[in-house]
Amino acid sequence: MILCCNPQAQYNAYQKEIDAAIGSVLRVGWYILGQEVKTFEEEFAAFLGVKYAVGCGSGTEALHLSLAACGIGTGDEVITVSHTAVATVAAIELTGATPVLVDVRPDCLTLDPNTLGRALTSRTKAIIPVHLYGQAADLNSIQSFARQHGLRVIEDCCQAHGATYSGRRVGCFGDLGCFSFYPTKNLGAVGDGGMVVTNDPELAERLRLLREYGWAKRYVSHIPGWNSRLDELQAAVLRVKLRYLDIDNEKRRQIAKAYSEGLKDCHVRLPVSRPENLHVYHLYVIRSQERDQLQEHLRKKDVGALIHYPVPVHQQPAYKGRLGNPDALQVTESAAQEVLSLPIYPELGETEIRTVIEAIRVFPATTR
Ligand SMILES: *Cc1c(COP(=O)(O)O)cnc(C)c1O
Repeated sequence: MILCCNPQAQYNAYQKEIDAAIGSVLRVGWYILGQEVKTFEEEFAAFLGVKYAVGCGSGTEALHLSLAACGIGTGDEVITVSHTAVATVAAIELTGATPVLVDVRPDCLTLDPNTLGRALTSRTKAIIPVHLYGQAADLNSIQSFARQHGLRVIEDCCQAHGATYSGRRVGCFGDLGCFSFYPTKNLGAVGDGGMVVTNDPELAERLRLLREYGWAKRYVSHIPGWNSRLDELQAAVLRVKLRYLDIDNEKRRQIAKAYSEGLKDCHVRLPVSRPENLHVYHLYVIRSQERDQLQEHLRKKDVGALIHYPVPVHQQPAYKGRLGNPDALQVTESAAQEVLSLPIYPELGETEIRTVIEAIRVFPATTR
């Protein structure tokens, strides 16, 4: 089976360095928020070109901490998309605030800035654009709308480590940028992990307090916080992989290019990458009117294609009827019927890429 993503292949690629990094943490014997985390925070901030980086427990927690650091909670509204990982919306609800879900652009499925005017109310406090599939949302329009209305911008960069917009890496545009190191992400740990980045020293300080019980120093809580820490093993592994992130993202772009060439003039709609963006192809997402049959056809040919995401957040049992106006989420709802993610990860070989392309090209016309 050709897997859609394959974190183990990446471990195999960097095994020596990863094993050494893990061994070194075990020998030092300091397991949480130590030197590895501190150094990784500095290296990750330098990589992005941002002043502060604060490690935390997951991508969900990065968003939760960011919202809390901005003082957002019960009675407030936060605008984001329904076409995203449920984590984006779950993080807003964790603070007590209400998610207001808007539609996406039909071409690249990121937040449609034209929807913001209608979603704005006197309670709106922030916008969370999601850099979906590895490509930046329309940061220019979103940020100018936010500035005009005094809103915070919290970037969900969980699928876009290293992606750029107008030449700068995502994460440094908004008030805060949030990253996940879930194993399948472009920068993936061997467990859970996350990071918030910011240029604002006060927000950075508040994030550091919030992630550990509000402690300014040990056992003295200055504000009510909780526990969302990054551990030393994850940080040590992530430091190794960060050194290869640009190279690995370039490999993903080469695979995407091969797919786009091999599948042009074919029966599927190809992903669009906008000129101002350097796409990092966390996912390579095609669209088809016969998506379910195509997925099944690929499965029979040992090609593992997945759906991101089959059910928009506003239609999931936990949120249905509570969030968003379905009439205003037409693009989201049709995308959920059509999207299909093809196998993509840096170690994917040329033979496998050809197999995937061929399998799609021979998708029988009879079922279409
Ligand atoms: C993965 C992901 C998250 C959540 O990250 P976790 O580390 O799994 O909590 C949030 N938003 C998006 C867009 C993601 O892809």
